[in-house]
Amino acid sequence: MHIKVNFSGRALHYTEEEMAVVLEALRTADPLTQGRYQQAFQEKFQTFNSVKHAFAMMNGTAALEVAARLCRLKAGDEVIVPSHTFTSSAYPFAKTGAALVWADINPATRVVDAESIARVLSPETRVIVVVHLYGYVADMPAITALAKERGILLVEDACQAIGADIDGVKAGNFADIGIFSFHSHKNLTTLGEGGMMTVRDDRYAALIPMLRHNGHCAFPGERPDYWKPAMGNVDFPELEGERLWPGNYCLGEVECALGAKQLDRVLTINAEKRLRALAFIDALAGYPELVFHRVDTTRHNYHLLAARMDGSVERRDDFIRRMFYEHGVKCVVQYYPLNRYPLYQKLGFGRADCPNADDFFDHMISFPFQHNLTDEELEHMLSAAKRVLDQQRAGK
Ligand SMILES: *Cc1c(COP(=O)(O)O)cnc(C)c1O
Repeated sequence: MHIKVNFSGRALHYTEEEMAVVLEALRTADPLTQGRYQQAFQEKFQTFNSVKHAFAMMNGTAALEVAARLCRLKAGDEVIVPSHTFTSSAYPFAKTGAALVWADINPATRVVDAESIARVLSPETRVIVVVHLYGYVADMPAITALAKERGILLVEDACQAIGADIDGVKAGNFADIGIFSFHSHKNLTTLGEGGMMTVRDDRYAALIPMLRHNGHCAFPGERPDYWKPAMGNVDFPELEGERLWPGNYCLGEVECALGAKQLDRVLTINAEKRLRALAFIDALAGYPELVFHRVDTTRHNYHLLAARMDGSVERRDDFIRRMFYEHGVKCVVQYYPLNRYPLYQKLGFGRADCPNADDFFDHMISFPFQHNLTDEELEHMLSAAKRVLDQQRAGK
């Protein structure tokens, strides 16, 4: 099988300028972690997202682990998470002993909304995790109002939605905690792994450096004998008298240097992907059996290009099969509803009342949509899709 359009594990090509920044950081960074490049990346991200505090992390999952600790969950507490998301939106919260409660998606937007969250709220709900899946920002004004009204912490998993916004307010900037990923697949990627956590609460911001780095902190007071009693102290970060476990979630200096540089380009990347997505969607407008989520504003960055195929599951499978075996275009299905995974079933979270998520999963197609697709690859994918759809219609 000759693959012509791969579902690539890599989102983009770096520019010469970005590679030059990497080389410069390789030559000059000292130390190679937690130095001036980290500081610069965080400051630039704060400006980019208009957020008070930003902390670089080794990946999005690490940022979610830290977020889960800041939420200080206990057994019996409940965390609402969409069933239709990537696994690391959810399991860091399960590790605290809290119960996961699955929220359904809105079939039109394929993300949760205030109504689907309200349906699974209970007196035990402590945290709501909202995920801007595929790069579309969920209805944060309504969800934020709901969370505020009830005093529930809100975490925004904006791992796929960097730079997307609602009326100028960027993803990750609505909730108490915002999470970003710079994984190989994402629209901004720091050599394959990387992440960012944003918070507005100064109390959180004061704790995160310790949480992120082994509980390291300074000894109190002036120390002219700087070597005494040792280089640095180790303690628990404490929030309202409660001890939180630290870890080591730091991101290296070279990654930080590259991430800061890429912030100059990410909105252009988003815009280019959005234009291509809209062109692809519009070119298939004559095939309403393939339903896209068409958004021609910056609320969607089209990190991924997903469609729902009307009709039977077999028809969807037939489409993907023909695209691959007859045209070399590798479409995939993402995401598996989390309640169907053994990991969540073994924890007792195997049940979900999420008919829209289940239905979408059974009918969805995710097209290859990395930024580095060539025009020829896109053109081939489009004509292949039309060919297969025509054949399906003709019953061939
Ligand atoms: C990529 C992703 C993550 C995890 O990010 P990593 O950097 O790979 O750890 C979490 N949630 C969502 C929705 C993601 O797409």
